[in-house]
Amino acid sequence: MRRNLLAWYDKCKRDLPWRTLAASEPDVDRRAYAVWVSEIMLQQTQVATVIDYYNRWMQKWPTLQALAEASLEEVNELWAGLGYYSRGKRLQEAARKVVSELAGRMPRTAEDLQKLLPGVGRYTAGAIASISYGQATGVVDGNVIRVLCRLRCIGADSSSPAVIDRLWDMANALVDRSRPGDFNQALMELGATVCVPKAPLCEECPVKQHCRARRRVEKELGLASRRLLGTCAPVPDVEDCGVGGCPLCPPATEPWDSSLGVTNFPRKAAKKQPRAARTATCVLERRGRCGAPQYLIVQRPSSGLLAGLWEFPSLPLALGLQEEKQRELLADHLQAWTGRPVAAGGLRYVGEVIHIFSHIHQTYVVYSLPVDGDVTLDPVSSPSRWVTEEEFHASAVSTAMKKVLKACEKQRGEQNGSGKVSKRKRGAKPGGAGSRPTGTQLSLHAFFRAPSPQ
Ligand code: SF4
Repeated sequence: MRRNLLAWYDKCKRDLPWRTLAASEPDVDRRAYAVWVSEIMLQQTQVATVIDYYNRWMQKWPTLQALAEASLEEVNELWAGLGYYSRGKRLQEAARKVVSELAGRMPRTAEDLQKLLPGVGRYTAGAIASISYGQATGVVDGNVIRVLCRLRCIGADSSSPAVIDRLWDMANALVDRSRPGDFNQALMELGATVCVPKAPLCEECPVKQHCRARRRVEKELGLASRRLLGTCAPVPDVEDCGVGGCPLCPPATEPWDSSLGVTNFPRKAAKKQPRAARTATCVLERRGRCGAPQYLIVQRPSSGLLAGLWEFPSLPLALGLQEEKQRELLADHLQAWTGRPVAAGGLRYVGEVIHIFSHIHQTYVVYSLPVDGDVTLDPVSSPSRWVTEEEFHASAVSTAMKKVLKACEKQRGEQNGSGKVSKRKRGAKPGGAGSRPTGTQLSLHAFFRAPSPQ
């Protein structure tokens, strides 16, 4: 199986920048760094998306030392759009640690990599050590889980500790001793290009003669046709040992589904539903030089979700609030930030923008507020700045915020295009600012009223 898999990999592997670097870089620390960056970027993100980010990253920070000297702001700017922003932050923290505490020398084994570097788990440590140092250690990622579960007909929940432990044992036993890095990459490549989640290409598979899932499909087909012809009674098979409470077999309550074929494996636990969250967001817009729009953005706290990224002034909302109430809360929030009263009716409702984070189903309730003066927010609670559209896209902003801006621009385009007000938006009161033609620039004083005398 090793021979077949490696021969296939040598012939069919995709040409990827981190592979070229790992194969050509003579300096072991630089090589490990190049592999490390690729592995962190590839977690939860498709290869096609990563390539451009990887090339730009390695061009900007070709060494650990260069990355250690970068600011978090620069890291976030380059990472913007890749998602899971804490990965970039932790990569940089770990690079600083290698430079300041380990004299710029990467730990040389999978065990030390995992122990000493923040953000480096068992998989990443195994990948760096096998690809960069030739350590004969296996790796288990989503692709490897799928391939091994099919090869060995492992049908129990593939995220259970019993299955994960067994898969690590198998990966460590299987890894080729003379080419561990290539072998691990070959196994992952097989999962990414041939043994794919839906409709795997079994006929093209270099290890098909070792695949028990494939054998099982053939056996089930034979049984089904014999049953049709009435020539045999079903005979229990020792491999179908789910009834015996085996921690690796499919549970007896979920028998073989002939419509799924080899994709009966692996079985996944029911996905946990993401938690719902709502946030009111306000796009404050003013006209800059030559009439080009500028937007106010504020920086998020340096820890937690989207740490250190920039966003439009936002306020988390309780679920189930009426639109009117949301608007009032947002107006109060802006008022506290600016130190001046803000009229809730001045906020123009744009719509809702949905963004799915890994564990959160986030709804942004978007408002806009055109102003003709300078507004700054309390710099102690949150740094803020005005940016042009171009600067906005070059800033460390999340994909969700780009969607928010797009929704505003779409609304403005629609309204400018028709030359009249579109139908009144939810929550906008007749005669209120929400019902004005949106092409009209509103005075700052229309929104920030002077406080009434006590
Ligand atoms: Fe995957 Fe099919 Fe190959 Fe088995 S034969 S490992 S199911 S692609």
